[in-house]
Amino acid sequence: MSKSRSFSLRPIRVQLPPAERFGRFLQSAGKRITRRKRLIVEQVFSHHDHFDADELMEHLRPLMARRKVSRPTVYRALAELVEAGMLRKMEIGGRNVYEHEYGYPSHDHLYCQSCNQLIEFDSAELERIRDAVAKEYKFQVLGHRMFVTGICAKCRRKQSSAAASQRQSKKPTFSPP
Ligand SMILES: [Zn+2]
Ligand SMILES: [Zn+2]
Repeated sequence: MSKSRSFSLRPIRVQLPPAERFGRFLQSAGKRITRRKRLIVEQVFSHHDHFDADELMEHLRPLMARRKVSRPTVYRALAELVEAGMLRKMEIGGRNVYEHEYGYPSHDHLYCQSCNQLIEFDSAELERIRDAVAKEYKFQVLGHRMFVTGICAKCRRKQSSAAASQRQSKKPTFSPP
């Protein structure tokens, strides 16, 4: 993940470990956290990433050699985690992508359409503008999403060097008379 000093995320702290927080949410809905769901939550919150259900299944596979976790269980757990406000769901290029909402600072994204990279950033300036616009409309802000699509620096370098080599190969060749 690319880091920027001026737009870096502000760290936050949480009181409860994710599995416990999720357990309480399920309890309030009259459900309980099963061992499978605990396993899923622990995997999901083991590191911050943007992932889809297939990628999560892939990571869970070695942990599930004996205890099988079905695809519907994973989908249900993901939906419940979104409902609990612990995961955020985004639709990117027709894919449902998830990331941590719980224990992770709010942020926005730059999305590279060429390599699918997501760059996270946080801008106080952007929030200031958001709040000013909301105030103008007497609007209560609950959150926002800014999603900037484009081409990342690495892909742009690749594109320009590919274009340069294409120009090179198009140069007329001179054969001696
Ligand atoms: Zn890229
Ligand atoms: Zn993110």
